[in-house]
Amino acid sequence: MATIKTSEKFAVSEEGYYGEFGGAFIPEMLFPNVEELQSRYLAIMNDPAFQKSFDQLLKDYVGRPTPLYKAERLSAKIGANIYLKREDLCHTGAHKINNTIGQILLAEKLGKRKIIAETGAGQHGVATATVCALKGLECEVFMGEKDIERQAPNVARMRMLGAKVTPATSGSKTLKDATNEAIRAWINNPTDTHYIIGSVVGPHPYPDMVARFQSIISAETRKQLVEQTGSELPDYVFACVGGGSNAAGMFYNFLDESSVQLVAVEAGGLGVNSGFSAATTALGKTGILHGSKSILMQTEDGQIVEPHSISAGLDYPGIGPLHAHLFKSNRGIFLNATDEEALDAAFELCRLEGIIPALESSHALAGLNKLNFKPDDVVVVCLSGRGDKDMSTYMQALEERTK
Ligand SMILES: *Cc1c(COP(=O)(O)O)cnc(C)c1O
Repeated sequence: MATIKTSEKFAVSEEGYYGEFGGAFIPEMLFPNVEELQSRYLAIMNDPAFQKSFDQLLKDYVGRPTPLYKAERLSAKIGANIYLKREDLCHTGAHKINNTIGQILLAEKLGKRKIIAETGAGQHGVATATVCALKGLECEVFMGEKDIERQAPNVARMRMLGAKVTPATSGSKTLKDATNEAIRAWINNPTDTHYIIGSVVGPHPYPDMVARFQSIISAETRKQLVEQTGSELPDYVFACVGGGSNAAGMFYNFLDESSVQLVAVEAGGLGVNSGFSAATTALGKTGILHGSKSILMQTEDGQIVEPHSISAGLDYPGIGPLHAHLFKSNRGIFLNATDEEALDAAFELCRLEGIIPALESSHALAGLNKLNFKPDDVVVVCLSGRGDKDMSTYMQALEERTK
């Protein structure tokens, strides 16, 4: 990577804010760790030797650049020029490895010996266990007890890769509880441990650091677009949003290009007003969770509302502070797609293009049906991951639909 360019209009402030969102709301015990990261992450990331190692691993280990693929049959169906950024072809099957490669190199620079992480569906846990094996570092992944039951194949993968998977047994026993456990473990091992957060959430500098590692997605897209269309700038970019890391990567190098419409698609679950949804911007209000101020799904008195989505990677009650700011400032359009709409979009991509997408990415694809395009519009969709991990859900849906 060349030094990652900083956005002029949407850069994080010195204190870690995007507009009114962000910051670092952490227990005092974590000040030394977080301050160390805040004071060193940019210098480390901008060091040419670091960039060289990062580039090399992205190329030879992850398999970058990922293709930008013009989906002809999907384009004909939608009535615009649809390009897919193929993050599904990354090693381990999704964009998450871009961030874990970056953070493991950073942890090495900081002299850390142990890595901890949280995971929901297990995708970030697998990406973290992978890079720990690559670097020979100890790895402990916290995962809700309920998710451990639901996501057995990823639990097995993490263990095969040498990670210790520790169940979170409090609360709803899912992602938010795993995150609480990881934070607790970090407090107890402040000097030798680095916490690899899996999305653009958490205290400053995580949202900015993770966005920068993922910004490779839009950096490559600009180069590939100019080769394929003659212009670096599309009319639209689409991405699904759980915490928001693939979206942040897809948006990053277009933030200051006002002609590029940024479109984020959240998980509508059974419907925004059904009580079973993860459409954070539609349902949430300002609050603090996991170290930063953002938009959160919460009750009147500030209790977190359990989210629901068919896709485990979007099943999170908040969004990163950058996205909260893009939403509040109207820089981005925020849509949502229901479980059924995501399944429809997944089956459609299979039949039209021969690509089985992750359920998360299928939400971004479903978003294509919600806007009106002109025939010559250029639309890039971040295909954040592949569908292997979702086969049991797809098989169940197929069975129900053919009854
Ligand atoms: C984890 C995951 C997501 C959601 O995470 P973001 O931080 O919002 O990108 C999306 N797609 C896939 C394939 C994932 O594994």
